[in-house]
Amino acid sequence: MKTDFDVIIVGAGAAGLTAAQYASRANLSTLVVEELASGGQALIVDRLENYPGFPEAISGMDLGQRMEKQAKAFGARFEYTTVSAVERKDGFFRVVFTNGERTALAVIAASGAKHKTLEVPGEKDLMGQGVSYCATCDGPLFKNKRILVVGGGDAACDEATYLANLTDKLTVIHRRDRFRAQPALAERILKNPAVRVVFNTECREIMGEGKVARVKLLNNAENRTYEEETDAVFIFIGSIPQTGFLAGVDLDKDGYIPTTQRMETNVPGLYAVGDVRATPFRQLVVAAGEGAIAAHAAAAYIDELKGRAYR
Ligand code: NAP
Repeated sequence: MKTDFDVIIVGAGAAGLTAAQYASRANLSTLVVEELASGGQALIVDRLENYPGFPEAISGMDLGQRMEKQAKAFGARFEYTTVSAVERKDGFFRVVFTNGERTALAVIAASGAKHKTLEVPGEKDLMGQGVSYCATCDGPLFKNKRILVVGGGDAACDEATYLANLTDKLTVIHRRDRFRAQPALAERILKNPAVRVVFNTECREIMGEGKVARVKLLNNAENRTYEEETDAVFIFIGSIPQTGFLAGVDLDKDGYIPTTQRMETNVPGLYAVGDVRATPFRQLVVAAGEGAIAAHAAAAYIDELKGRAYR
């Protein structure tokens, strides 16, 4: 069966770019489709201090460009457009873009998850200047500084635990009167002397000139608004996995794609990697590893289809 490509990868974050490198290096004709630019969520990170091999840190944009260059060096092609549908029919995939469509024998979904945002004044303007959605990425920049965490789920409590190792001036606010998080994670925060927990409180505005300086908070039990000084606002209010374009794929209760160890979804020939996958640790290095596994699995699947599997 003749398709436009062996494999199409949707998304050019660390997972998609690594999959592209491994797939093209394995001699698969490979297309990466990305709607913005290479780098994924790491694009907003100024200093990546924990990606192996870069002891002096690297920006997310720089890393994304390097990974793209490496994938292109092995022959991967890139198109910058939005994918609206991926459908499997008659044993191959039709991938529909804003401006056309291509076919492939295998598809790797590396479309990531978007952090939910508070949608309050100042949040967008101060993103990367004290407003963050990743404790591991940006927390060390605020060592011993005042940090405000917004959220009440597992992620907020997990990430706040990490941040509490960096500063004893950490405040966690949650809009309800108790945490939604699993009791074990919530307890860890509630019992931590470095953490001040303020319930029934919402962040209504983030203020500062060029960097975060203050927040406007609402105590929703007393309907009282007040301001508080802070150096950083870390927001963990859930995320939205980007799966809307995929037909027939099983999702878990949170909307992420469960896979096998080989990154296989329930649809033959469709793999999921990185933040869109139901994964225990959302980090660039993990995403990159998953991309490599998926490309390897896709290559074996395609060899089988083409009747050249090594037995
Ligand atoms: P989540 O469980 O959906 O929790 C989101 C939290 O943010 C909730 O407490 C919610 O408040 C609050 N929130 C939502 N929108 C808000 C808004 N506009 N303003 C203020 N607060 C808002 O999301 P998550 O914590 O990111 O976790 C996502 C999934 O990953 C979960 O299944 C979780 O178990 C899993 N996870 C697990 C671990 C772990 O096991 N270590 C770590 C991280 C994530 P309400 O409570 O009022 O709805």
